[in-house]
Amino acid sequence: MDSRSELSVSLHLNHRLTALFPQPDGRVLLEFKTDNKTVKVLAKWVVLALPRCPLIQLRPLLPEHIGELVDSVIPIPLVKCFFVNESPWWNEFTPPQTRASSTPAREIHYAFRKDESSKRGIVMVYGDPPSMHYWTPFVQQQEHLKAELNLDKRLVEGYLKYLRSNPDNIDIKEIREEAELISCFGIRDWSREPFEAGCHIWKAGVRAEEAIKELTAFSLQDSPLSNKNIHICGEAYSDFQGFIEGGLRTALRVVKQIL
Ligand SMILES: Cc1cc2nc3c(=O)[nH]c(=O)nc-3n(C[C@H](O)[C@H](O)[C@H](O)COP(=O)(O)OP(=O)(O)OC[C@H]3O[C@@H](n4cnc5c(N)ncnc54)[C@H](O)[C@@H]3O)c2cc1C
Repeated sequence: MDSRSELSVSLHLNHRLTALFPQPDGRVLLEFKTDNKTVKVLAKWVVLALPRCPLIQLRPLLPEHIGELVDSVIPIPLVKCFFVNESPWWNEFTPPQTRASSTPAREIHYAFRKDESSKRGIVMVYGDPPSMHYWTPFVQQQEHLKAELNLDKRLVEGYLKYLRSNPDNIDIKEIREEAELISCFGIRDWSREPFEAGCHIWKAGVRAEEAIKELTAFSLQDSPLSNKNIHICGEAYSDFQGFIEGGLRTALRVVKQIL
């Protein structure tokens, strides 16, 4: 075995972890499912960088106290929509949150690009409860893991109701013309499985620092060795929830623990 193959890893993409079982030698047998097959993999260390939802499904296989900690965060649902406009009314100076107070949205962000021949902009709308309930009826796709692109023209109508160039304009013909400027749009409901949320918060009374420490390394219930080779990390179980940085901080803790 040369050093290259020593360093190589097997990647199993689009595999859903459905079970994990301790083995007599301390390793863990992982069971993954794809659309048409089940795959089993043996691992010395297992890093569960998964959202809360699949971890809850694995809860019966986790030690009781770890299961309780997995359930000690609250998922905050989130919907995101975006609209590409070929002649936007905003520009590079339009600040984020412009019109947010008059639109069903938690956050609105604008981007703008201009070159010699054209200008183009994108508006991104983020909604959590209750504002997201305005947008979720536009989600049509049942498949969980894909964003929806250009599926439901009613989404553009829903957008123009609040974010047309002149909100006082009620001329139907002009509003239709404005709809034609939207060249691409999409929506994704992050509250669907497996994500279930856009971000998380710890439940009241949970000692987050202690919970993170416990989740960083533990052994499976019936593991013959107390080798603490299971590791949970990610934004949901971090001290910086809502941000990528939270997930990275917990990942760093796990790496240090393994090393
Ligand atoms: C719309 C939106 C905008 C955001 N914007 C920002 C931003 O601007 N800045 C910022 O810092 N953060 C932002 N965030 C938050 C950031 O994206 C998350 O905090 C970060 O992605 C969390 O990383 P994670 O590794 O914990 O989980 P995830 O990124 O959710 O990764 C979990 C992985 O597990 C996989 N998975 C799920 N179930 C299974 C299973 N059973 N088996 C195997 N794999 C599974 C998923 O496919 C996914 O790849 C945003 C989030 C959203 C939803």
